[in-house]
Amino acid sequence: MVVGIIGGGYAGMAAAVALAERGIPVTLFESARQLGGRARGVMHNDTQLDNGQHLLLGCYRQTLRLIKQVGGNLEQDFLRLPLQLDLHGEFSLRAPRLPAPLHLLVALLNAQGISFGERMKAARFMLALRRMNFYLPRDMTVAELLVQHGQDAELAQKLWEPLCIAALNTPILKASAQVLLNVLRDALNQKRSDSDMLLPRVDFTALFPQRAANYIEQRGGMVFTSCGVEAIIPKDHGIELVTAQACPEPGRRRTERFSHVICSAPPTVTAKLLRPISLLENTVAQIDSLEHQPIYTVYLRYPAHVHLPHPMLGLHRRFSQWLFDKGQIAGQHGLLAAVISAEGIHQELPQEQLAQRVIAELREEFGIAEVPEWFKVIAEKRATFCCAPNLQRPSQQTDLPGLLLAGDYTAGAYPATLEGAVLSGLHCASLISA
Ligand SMILES: Cc1cc2nc3c(=O)[nH]c(=O)nc-3n(C[C@H](O)[C@H](O)[C@H](O)COP(=O)(O)OP(=O)(O)OC[C@H]3O[C@@H](n4cnc5c(N)ncnc54)[C@H](O)[C@@H]3O)c2cc1C
Repeated sequence: MVVGIIGGGYAGMAAAVALAERGIPVTLFESARQLGGRARGVMHNDTQLDNGQHLLLGCYRQTLRLIKQVGGNLEQDFLRLPLQLDLHGEFSLRAPRLPAPLHLLVALLNAQGISFGERMKAARFMLALRRMNFYLPRDMTVAELLVQHGQDAELAQKLWEPLCIAALNTPILKASAQVLLNVLRDALNQKRSDSDMLLPRVDFTALFPQRAANYIEQRGGMVFTSCGVEAIIPKDHGIELVTAQACPEPGRRRTERFSHVICSAPPTVTAKLLRPISLLENTVAQIDSLEHQPIYTVYLRYPAHVHLPHPMLGLHRRFSQWLFDKGQIAGQHGLLAAVISAEGIHQELPQEQLAQRVIAELREEFGIAEVPEWFKVIAEKRATFCCAPNLQRPSQQTDLPGLLLAGDYTAGAYPATLEGAVLSGLHCASLISA
């Protein structure tokens, strides 16, 4: 059995680690110069950034387990914060150190910035969801679910909408209520630490994919970067992969035969690679029907003394939805990141103007009068799939024997997240080793 893996994002690397652990030889091809895909380190002006500020939850069990397995140290690699939702000056919710789900109920009842009646409504909603075991007989949009449970506009805007956008990267009018409940069930309903928010202190390539590559190579596997796959060709009960010119060596193209292939490239690339294979017409149609949502991150390099009141906090009715103080998180003093998730009017602004808006918001909200030395806007236009109700996501198993699909967009309970990507990769590895 020899396995080829296309794509060195979190899904592909998770699959490769699980197979390498079981002694199954893997060859992984990544088209970019570095590993990590949509969660990767980026250097700018000698400063280590990510392509977007990410956050993990304590309930991302498989991602955290794998980071440890390949040599990570969770205490050193992350700043761990108890569940908190702080919209500067408008709303604040902080979970006390109580067992789950009591910590959330007490947090909701003590939330600041909404009336007592609204706090009661929010707590009643959570209790109703628990009684339903976070399962809806019929999926609907988050906006519809909120109306059904009497969550009025103020509550939706200050609590549920920021949560939904952070978890699903999809506005409440379009987002699947069931997928949101899947995340709430795992994050809020079991152990208190499941709802902890983990902010990485190292970049996203270093956090897992690079360590995973070392782990795979130590077990006889191979990881090629700058080595994209251009064709998948079913041949004689196996699958051939054809790489781009100049991979693995200048002027050479590689054609290699595998018993199994896991395609863990992003959905648009996967559709392009699968399109010539007539057996996979339905899978390609499913992938083509997915819509996407953007995430913009604006990094700002201020003088080192500039900081925010907390490592992470939100803004209400501003362009900047979440702000991160990289000084408090990772010792990068003066570096701030503003994250703008999901679709919106910010997409219409040129990057310079968007950065100027964020700078003005920082000045107005926190009195930061300094001018940043530089800014960098990273626009990920297809950051995640749009997590709509009743979405038919492609299964990991395909109609072509030996070909599997991994990636955050494939079938699963989670939205497009690191944990969703990792789970899909692990599932592919289990299907192959079984
Ligand atoms: C800005 C941003 C912020 C986010 N924030 C969060 C967050 O806070 N928490 C969270 O859990 N999730 C977050 N996500 C989502 C998370 O990053 C993704 O769900 C996850 O990284 C997807 O991993 P993947 O392996 O499925 O796909 P990808 O990361 O897209 O990996 C696919 C890989 O395939 C490679 N590839 C492409 N074409 C080829 C080819 N022809 N041959 C070989 N390789 C190829 C790509 O270069 C890439 O490395 C965020 C995403 C973005 C963009």
